[in-house]
Amino acid sequence: MTLDILFGNEALKSTLRGFAGKRAFPNAFMISGPEGSGKSTAALLFAMAISCKGEDRPCGKCESCRKISEGISPDVINIGLIKDRKTIGVESVREITDSAYILPNDLDVKIYIIKDAEKLTAQAQNALLKIFEEGPMSVYFILLTSAPSQLLPTVRSRAPEIKTEVFTDKKLTELLRGNVKKAAELYAKDEAAFRKIVSASGGSYGKALAILEGKNKKTPQLIKKAENIVSLLGEKDGAHLMIALLDESSDRENYSSVLSLVQNALRDLAMIKKGGDGDMIFYSDRLLAAELSERFSISTIVRLTTVLDNLYYEVTQTNINVRTAALVASGRLSDVM
Ligand SMILES: [Zn+2]
Repeated sequence: MTLDILFGNEALKSTLRGFAGKRAFPNAFMISGPEGSGKSTAALLFAMAISCKGEDRPCGKCESCRKISEGISPDVINIGLIKDRKTIGVESVREITDSAYILPNDLDVKIYIIKDAEKLTAQAQNALLKIFEEGPMSVYFILLTSAPSQLLPTVRSRAPEIKTEVFTDKKLTELLRGNVKKAAELYAKDEAAFRKIVSASGGSYGKALAILEGKNKKTPQLIKKAENIVSLLGEKDGAHLMIALLDESSDRENYSSVLSLVQNALRDLAMIKKGGDGDMIFYSDRLLAAELSERFSISTIVRLTTVLDNLYYEVTQTNINVRTAALVASGRLSDVM
């Protein structure tokens, strides 16, 4: 396993090469990006680079690299949500405090990879900060998160953020067709179905793979949901729309997927209204889309898109309560409809 395993992500790779070249990695840093964007793979590559014995780090060949990539090094320790828990509590951080001062087993360093770091309680984050400050120099922390804004500012300032890349639909299509047999087959057989998968994956390679392999069972439901929301928008049915919007509010991840699908659908409708003949990204049936587009004026689509873009930003980039954000947006939507 070497850097080639991560598609795209040039900025992240160049940061890694920069650290590796100077043989100086920060003791704590954060890898952020949406679900399925390669955060875990990136974390393993950083861990390999930190402890690599080769020249071109991570070499992928030395014993450290090998053990880490196979997940069998006792000195790379994964911390994350415990089953049935919603947060990562201070007891998980105590586990780190207890083991961080014990010498590594077979590497020269100890590396803690903390997944879903946004789920750390404030108390846990404060405990973690203390180890960042007082822990041994040979101990490293890699925080993985899809919602960096939900971490305490003190943690964010101590753990520089390195972002994984989200692909454009075009680039993602290219990558999937070029690298995944199943994707190439689906594209040849049913291009519309393929485009829906790309559209539902929000630019994430991993998410697209999960949908392709049927591991993401919710996707067809989310697509259905997005279709419903668009027709409600067309019917100017504010009350139903409000319910439809709130319905997904229990889960930030699903909610943002639905929003992204609705945005893509509106983009298709706007293109048709303007008489464009480019590729559709959401609708597979051009006639159906043309029929739907009759219900909107261009200016309504523009105003709807502004409200939805804003809501998408709030849901994905801030820690605003999803329900509150949806309610406020529903109000704004009834104003523009
Ligand atoms: Zn190596």
